[in-house]
Amino acid sequence: MTEAPRLSVVVPLYNEALNIEAFFQRLVPVLDGLDLRWEVVCVDDGSRDDTLAALLRLRQRYPRIKVIGLSRNFGKERALSAGLAHARGDAVIPIDADLQHPPEVIPEMLAKWRDGYDVVYAVRRRRTGQSWLGRMQARAFYWVFDKLSEVPLPREVGDFRLLDRKVVEVINSMPERTRFMKGIFAWVGFRQTGVPYEQEERQHGTSRWQFMRLLSFAFDGLVAFSDYPLRVWALIGSIISGFAFFYIVVRLVRTMLYGIDVPGYESIIVIMLFLGGVQLITLGILGHYIGRVFNEVKGRPLFIVRERYGFDDDQPATAADGAISTVTQPE
Ligand code: UDP
Ligand code: MG
Repeated sequence: MTEAPRLSVVVPLYNEALNIEAFFQRLVPVLDGLDLRWEVVCVDDGSRDDTLAALLRLRQRYPRIKVIGLSRNFGKERALSAGLAHARGDAVIPIDADLQHPPEVIPEMLAKWRDGYDVVYAVRRRRTGQSWLGRMQARAFYWVFDKLSEVPLPREVGDFRLLDRKVVEVINSMPERTRFMKGIFAWVGFRQTGVPYEQEERQHGTSRWQFMRLLSFAFDGLVAFSDYPLRVWALIGSIISGFAFFYIVVRLVRTMLYGIDVPGYESIIVIMLFLGGVQLITLGILGHYIGRVFNEVKGRPLFIVRERYGFDDDQPATAADGAISTVTQPE
């Protein structure tokens, strides 16, 4: 067995064929300048272009690049989980392949790690290519998340960060299917610190994060880290019941004093519609949590590996709840 690497860089890739060459042109010199053993674990997240082929070509030039091909597109969060499960380094750094995360920050992260920090996250100094609306959405999301969840999220921080081996082990052992990575990274705790970086524009292709996807991602994150949306209806229900009781008394007294007046249709309709609406919202929220429980209970693998290149044979066959369907192709 080859000696374990000190540093693993984990790259999830989905249709990044155009970016790969430029990305490794920048990454490899940085890693070579570090003076420690490194590996790059590339996870091809079921790309439909020739990302996988390009990675395999690169492997001939840089044998320290390892490649995992997932059986279909599982999404960035799960691709990252697959990469973390296969990384062997004492420090692990997830990074995007679109060059929005400058590899030049890696030496600074390592310096902080050597100072004794377990998690060193990269903090965006400025968001490029993001609209005013996008920024407001992000701000609203963080505000709500901090109010509702038990762990605050550091601002302007993505998945680009250094994780110590012990943090990676904890994350690998977390069984949940909904991988809201930002939340998980914050939730595990440990000694955390940040280093600043400038985010660049995406090189080729478009980000897959359109408005509705982002919205549902934000909601998933909230549901995964807070049961407040579930509980808040008890409070709202009590308040509404309080008003209803007050109104009942008013109507009774009125009837006793002035007799029955037949018109009253509007008030009945308004109250019925309002309560009906509140009940439907409540049901919807309940449904969301039940759906989550349903997904977790099924216990399906987080990701499915179709092929692996460059890994030792003695690596565990079912790392971190993933499923591996074919034999590894060793170096
Ligand atoms: N990615 C992935 N699977 C997906 C979508 C994206 O592995 O289903 C990868 C993508 O190739 C890139 C990283 O995740 O390396 C970040 O994706 P993107 O640039 O679309 O997201 P953003 O930068 O807008 O957060
Ligand atoms: Mg990007």
